[in-house]
Amino acid sequence: MAFAQLQLAAPLARAVADMGYETMTPIQAQAIPVVLQGRDVMGAAQTGTGKTAAFALPLLQRMLKHENSSTSPARHPVRALVLLPTRELADQVAQAIKDYAVHTNLRSAVVFGGMDMKPQTLELKKGVEVLVATPGRLLDHIEAKNCVLNQVEYVVLDEADRMLDIGFLPDLQRILSYLPKQRITLLFSATFSSEIKRLASSYLQDPVTIEV
Ligand code: AMP
Repeated sequence: MAFAQLQLAAPLARAVADMGYETMTPIQAQAIPVVLQGRDVMGAAQTGTGKTAAFALPLLQRMLKHENSSTSPARHPVRALVLLPTRELADQVAQAIKDYAVHTNLRSAVVFGGMDMKPQTLELKKGVEVLVATPGRLLDHIEAKNCVLNQVEYVVLDEADRMLDIGFLPDLQRILSYLPKQRITLLFSATFSSEIKRLASSYLQDPVTIEV
């Protein structure tokens, strides 16, 4: 299926064209329409399958179409949160999201451990709509009151199996407890182990399962 058939908003269609994408990968063809409809997704897909665009494009599209209606004083509240297990993956996904959002006004940032908190704090205080993070460092920023997550509409638990392998479950549970219950949650994992299924049944609502 061609990207043209999706009728993406012009800034996103332009970004996709800039990247040279023409046809969707299998995970994109299955996930993008479902996320656009507002359903939760449980996706089995590895890195390299086009997974990032599969969640980022429909989330950006929804964020462009549905303005944040909150009366929050924060000018740029975090609307989408993407959690990943490692600094390298967070960096890579954050760069891809910047590429997809380059022609929009949506701001994004990435926070991960092993780096000074200060530059990340300055960026968070300016306000970002899309925040990419590793769980431990995100909790540090939440505790330091550098970011507020009560306006989050979209959460992506990417490489969820690796996050559990690293032992991030308690951190994930705490982070998810700060988020509004009314939201869209997407979970991607290479495998659907019983732990992953348990995580999904606790935090996803009637998800569509996609396996490629
Ligand atoms: P990902 O699995 O999201 O890390 O993407 C793997 C690589 O595939 C990245 O270099 C993407 O830019 C590229 N890619 C993603 N979707 C497409 C597509 N539909 N057509 C061509 N390349 C793509």
